[in-house]
Amino acid sequence: MVATRRDLHAHPELGFQEHRTAALVAARLRELGLEVHERIAQTGVLGIVKGGRPGKTIMLRADMDALPIREQNEAAYRSTNDAMHACGHDGHVAILLGAAQILSERRAEICGTVVLCFQPAEEGLGGARAMVEAGILGEYGIERAYGLHLSSQHPTGKVGFRAGQIYASSDSIEIAIHGKGGHGAAPHLSIDPIYVASSFVVAVQQVVSRVVNPVEPAVVTIGSFQAGTTYNVIPTSAKLLGTVRAFDAGVRAEMSGRIERVLAGICAASGATYDFNYIWRYPVTSNDAEQTEYARALGERTLGAEHIEEFPKIMGAEDFSFFAEKVPACFYQVGCRGDERSSFPHHHERFDIDERALEYGVRMMVALGLDAGANAP
Ligand SMILES: [Zn+2]
Ligand SMILES: [Zn+2]
Repeated sequence: MVATRRDLHAHPELGFQEHRTAALVAARLRELGLEVHERIAQTGVLGIVKGGRPGKTIMLRADMDALPIREQNEAAYRSTNDAMHACGHDGHVAILLGAAQILSERRAEICGTVVLCFQPAEEGLGGARAMVEAGILGEYGIERAYGLHLSSQHPTGKVGFRAGQIYASSDSIEIAIHGKGGHGAAPHLSIDPIYVASSFVVAVQQVVSRVVNPVEPAVVTIGSFQAGTTYNVIPTSAKLLGTVRAFDAGVRAEMSGRIERVLAGICAASGATYDFNYIWRYPVTSNDAEQTEYARALGERTLGAEHIEEFPKIMGAEDFSFFAEKVPACFYQVGCRGDERSSFPHHHERFDIDERALEYGVRMMVALGLDAGANAP
């Protein structure tokens, strides 16, 4: 698993471009004698482990994509291109391939069928939704779904479960503010889009602090602000990109209108105009209560109760939510923070995992593969 993970880490691929990764996955699954389906939702791969006894069909899922980050680590297995496995998906693939090997060897013990799902494009592009739309749940009769994420927020050796909502919804905003360009010394003859956009960036926080019910969490972050070229020119337009998070469906549904209302008011006050594009991305990720109780108890038996924790909910998001909307599901966290080297946050240019965490991930995945077809609620 370590060798596989390092190979993938050195050759990261962005969402829906995971051609090398998918080919590696498919080749490994074929070597194990498994039925393999490729090019689902462009680069997705499924491996089918048919058990020796009757039972449910369950899915174990890993995501394969990397991020457009230039890696700053010096490790021998550092990225060889402009992308980076800065979220740990290389580890997820290595874990599921490790589980594939053990489950294929112990096929006779399995009740039902285990579908090993290697999905593309978790980072924003919704590879899981594409897999659902490709019809995999119905075509393979998937009744339960399990997935994991490595987490540098938690120490190696801890595996975390939580029932109910665990990750927020995630949607995107794209804004262009159009003013009137001119000389930097003559603002009265211009409509300054930098001033208007700056006012909006500050004012939009009132949606969270003054409009949304304070008992409901929400986040609006403007992550990109692009305008202008030089010292003394008022540009014609400014562009903003942002992300919006929420847990409550009602709050989520109203965020678009509330943000646009602030934008419209501020633009009107200055005579600017705007384009506003709101992109609905990932719904809230909710763990089924019964599945989570089952998986937690299985984890305690498999790893020992001292390794199992209740993990906090966070405003991060996961497209595993598209699977969890359709079938009872449980998504769990596997701590991967060892020393300082593996303590950077996810998506950081120096992110790395403590590879000892792979063992906890694979033991949990194998336990689910061997047990869930017979015993999951
Ligand atoms: Zn990520
Ligand atoms: Zn991730």
